[in-house]
Amino acid sequence: MTLNIRGLTVRFGQMTAVDNASLKIGNGEVVALLGPSGCGKSTLLRSVAGLEPEAKGDIRWGDEDLTKMPVHKRGIGLVFQDGQLFPHRDVAGNVAFGLRMHRIKPTQPRVDELLDLVGLSGYQKRRVTDLSGGEQQRVALARALAPKPRLLLLDEPLSALDRALREQLALDLARLLRKAGTSALVVTHDHDEAFTLADRVALMRTGRIVQTGTAEQVWRSPADEQTARFLGCELIEDAVITNHIAEFDLGRVELPWAQDGPARIGLRPNALVADPEGALEGEVSGKVHRRDHVRLLVKIEHREVDAVATMATAPEPGQKVRLRLDSDGLAVLGDHAG
Ligand code: ATP
Repeated sequence: MTLNIRGLTVRFGQMTAVDNASLKIGNGEVVALLGPSGCGKSTLLRSVAGLEPEAKGDIRWGDEDLTKMPVHKRGIGLVFQDGQLFPHRDVAGNVAFGLRMHRIKPTQPRVDELLDLVGLSGYQKRRVTDLSGGEQQRVALARALAPKPRLLLLDEPLSALDRALREQLALDLARLLRKAGTSALVVTHDHDEAFTLADRVALMRTGRIVQTGTAEQVWRSPADEQTARFLGCELIEDAVITNHIAEFDLGRVELPWAQDGPARIGLRPNALVADPEGALEGEVSGKVHRRDHVRLLVKIEHREVDAVATMATAPEPGQKVRLRLDSDGLAVLGDHAG
């Protein structure tokens, strides 16, 4: 069964929070709704759940019209940023509540099974207030999955956690959602999280869904300049692509997946890599350590560009550096990617 959202529009007074949005979520598919703060992601998600009375448009599950259906009948599980657990109940009590809420009698084997699924076997009697943020979110997930919802809606489920934990939990959550087999829509403003979790990403801006595709599709071929910039392309250049080789102001690079013709390409900082064999030469004007590499600002003739280097070989400000183009850091805007 597919969730099919068509022409969804939500207005708050003069403000259009969701503007004619259409999106499909296939059976067992995990879709991430990615966009900057305030673009309407949560409002879209809340509309699917039935929590936005002003929502106009069509939301169907297969042939079933959800538009007028009350929240509790939609078969949807919800997970929010801060879990919203009941502090006075233990872990098992919180998960059991997910079943009771749907008039399903909780049984210990079912609660155990759910805790096992989220990697919290043996936590039944633990107080939720004693759990780490990551563990609390797992309990929230077990509670949401308890009544076997046909669709799980997750609103920034990891954003309250610190970075290291978020990365680990994103991987865990990706595995977990596949194991549970439930279709899911995950709202996030974090690219890494979206690409880690989702089969497909829907990019949203000012209430509109501007592009949907696999992580690879949207990463390599953002729909337009604003989308490219949102996805980390700091430099946009005009190029000509011939026999899959893009030629532009900074040089030539092979893009096996790109279509021939005039194109606009986007460069992320890792499109330029410090390499003694590189064709470009410049002078380092800035250097910042990142977690696993070094970011450089490099002056090439009359312009300054971002580049990356390994920690062991990074040059110092004032030194000369050679750079090579790396196709991994390049995107082709619009429909020029094959
Ligand atoms: P964030 O990531 O910051 O949560 P978002 O992309 O989820 O942002 P929404 O929360 O959907 O964005 O909000 C979209 C716009 O609608 C915002 O400008 C917000 O202020 C506005 N908005 C949301 N809910 C209401 C409401 N109940 N009444 C009036 N305006 C609202």
